[in-house]
Amino acid sequence: MAFNKKTRIFLAVILVAGWSLALGYQALNSGCLTRFFNYGRIYRDNRVLMGTFWEVTSPEKRAGEIVFSEASRIEKLLSKYNASSEVSRLNRTGKIKASPDTFYVIKRAQELSLRTSGAFDITVAPLVDLWGFTDRKFRVPGNTEIESAMKITGSDKIVLHEKDNMIEFKIPGMEIDLGGIGKGFALDCAVKKLKENGIADCLINAGGQVYALGNKFGAPWKVAVQTSAKPEISGTLELTDESASTSGDYEQFFLKDGKSYSHIIDPRTGYPAAGGITSVTVTADSALEADALSTAVFILGENGLPGLKAGFPKSRFYIRQGRAKEKQPEQ
Ligand code: ADP
Ligand code: MG
Repeated sequence: MAFNKKTRIFLAVILVAGWSLALGYQALNSGCLTRFFNYGRIYRDNRVLMGTFWEVTSPEKRAGEIVFSEASRIEKLLSKYNASSEVSRLNRTGKIKASPDTFYVIKRAQELSLRTSGAFDITVAPLVDLWGFTDRKFRVPGNTEIESAMKITGSDKIVLHEKDNMIEFKIPGMEIDLGGIGKGFALDCAVKKLKENGIADCLINAGGQVYALGNKFGAPWKVAVQTSAKPEISGTLELTDESASTSGDYEQFFLKDGKSYSHIIDPRTGYPAAGGITSVTVTADSALEADALSTAVFILGENGLPGLKAGFPKSRFYIRQGRAKEKQPEQ
């Protein structure tokens, strides 16, 4: 069948238009075009909360306020530095009827203690106090002091009553410290609030612990990971709907007689962690889990990695041991 010239031109135009539309649609869908033109505005907002610097980056101006108000709500519940927080009341009285949020985070902490062979343990609070990390009057305690503090540690000594949200300590004098999980939980709560408010893309950095919600103009959020005190960038992670948490011995520690003591306490010994790790970054679907896991890896050291990788197959672990030997991202 032969077409006349006019019909041939018409069909060619339709074909070219069809191809262009299909290619354009594909490019738009893959984020190619948006990335190429890098259009749109990005807003940055910051605040000091939970004792650290929070930065919120999003194409939505509202994101910052939503994140900050949620983080400050969680801080009021969990901070041991706030005498009226639920955690402070529990530490004082040994028993409270908790809000669903406080109950949830303590329940998850107890579960993560079991899943990290006891390395992550919020009941290390008396030991954290003893080493002077709470009032920043650092000291090396004697063995008897450490032994008596260890008698009142152990997450199995927290009783959780699901039916009425009661939390109870089995032994008088016990205390909890949510410093290794609270920030992660606050990030998760903030992300939930962002989603409820229809915000799909946002990067939150809370003092080195990040949650990347959605994307940045169609491409994953890129996060620089710092693994030493020097202001050097050691690597880049690409994250989408994922959190990355870094624990290191270079930010909070004290030196005594040429020895460095880190703020992360090994519940098995009562002494600051000596896993030989300078810093560790862990990714997880939830910030709460990433936060607790980075603390646990710091304690368990490289020997504990195979067990953790088996228990948390979706997480990625990046560790750095000592100053000289650098480990690059490993899966
Ligand atoms: P950062 O404070 O830099 O975010 P981490 O997330 O690793 O570091 O948390 C460290 C904090 O966790 C300590 O300051 C202390 O409050 C608490 N902590 C210390 N040792 C443990 C432990 N073994 N398990 C759980 N929490 C701990
Ligand atoms: Mg942590």
